[in-house]
Amino acid sequence: SPPVPYVGRFAPTPSGYLHFGSLIAALASYLDARHVGGRWLLRMEDLDPPREVPGAQAGILKTLEDYGFEWDGEVVRQSERLAAYGETVEHLLERGLAYACTCSRKRLEGFSGIYPGFCREAGQASRDAAIRLRVPEREYAFVDRVQGAFAQQLAREVGDFVIRRRDGLYAYQLAVVLDDAWQGVTDVVRGADLLDSSPRQLYLQELLGLSRPRYLHVPLIVQPDGHKLGKSYRSPPLPAERAGPLLQRALRALGQCPPAGLEHARPRELLDWGIAHWDAERIPRRGTLAEATLG
Ligand code: GLU
Ligand code: ZN
Repeated sequence: SPPVPYVGRFAPTPSGYLHFGSLIAALASYLDARHVGGRWLLRMEDLDPPREVPGAQAGILKTLEDYGFEWDGEVVRQSERLAAYGETVEHLLERGLAYACTCSRKRLEGFSGIYPGFCREAGQASRDAAIRLRVPEREYAFVDRVQGAFAQQLAREVGDFVIRRRDGLYAYQLAVVLDDAWQGVTDVVRGADLLDSSPRQLYLQELLGLSRPRYLHVPLIVQPDGHKLGKSYRSPPLPAERAGPLLQRALRALGQCPPAGLEHARPRELLDWGIAHWDAERIPRRGTLAEATLG
C-alpha cells in the first residue's frame, strides 16, 4: 500500500501566550511537515477554562501569523470535542479499564505522584469522582526521532492516571490521543517536556485500537538560571517586530543554520528557507544555554 501522507500538528495550550520554547516546537513541527509536502494542523488545547488566560487563543494565532506560519483547515478546539472524550471515558469504565477515584489530594501526599491504587477495587460510582485508567505492569517503549529509545514501566513509574478530573475536566493525555487519531496525525513533533507523557499515550492508543504516530521531541530551552522556559513565566506575546531575529534563533536552536544572506530576511523567507533545508538529523538532543536568551 502507498505510504500514508504526512500530517503534522501544533497543539498549544492557551494558558499563556506563545513563548520562545513553544515557537521552537511550532517551527519544528511546521518545517518537518512542509519539508515533505505534508499537512500542518493547528489544535487549541483549551481543556482547562479556569487556567485559560483571556486573549491567549487570539494572541497565539496572531503570533503564528506574524511569524509567517500557515496552517491547513480550521483550527480545532478541544472545548468542542468534549462529547468524544466523554464517550471514550464511558467505554473505558464499562470495559473495567478505568475506575472512579475519590481520593483527596491529602490522602495522596507522600506517594510522589504515583497513585497507590486505593480505589482500584472499590467499585465506586463515577459521579463526583475522578476517573483513573488502570495501567498494566508492562513497559511501553518507542524510538523518538531525536531523543532515541525511551521506555517506561507504567505501573511502577506512572501509576493509574487521571483521564477525567473530579471537576469534570478531561485530561490532556486522553484528549491528545483521541484528537491526534481523529485528525489523522502521523507525526507528533513537540517539546521534550512531553517525552515522559508518551508511554501513557502509547498505552491509550493500544487500548483504543488507534495507530501510533511517529514522535520527535525537540530539546527544551533552558533559561540561564536553569529554569525551563514555560508558561509559569507569564511571558508577554512574542513581539511581531522581532519575528525575523527570533525565527533565526529558533532555527539555530534546532541545528538549522540559515546563511548570512538571510540575516535581514522576512519571516516568510526564513520559513521557506527552513522548509527547503530542513534536516531533522541536525536537531540537538538538549537545548544549549547560548540559545536560551531572548536578547
Ligand atoms: N498542549 C500541549 C502544550 O502546550 C502540547 C501537546 C502536544 O503537543 O502533545 O504543552
Ligand atoms: Zn482513589
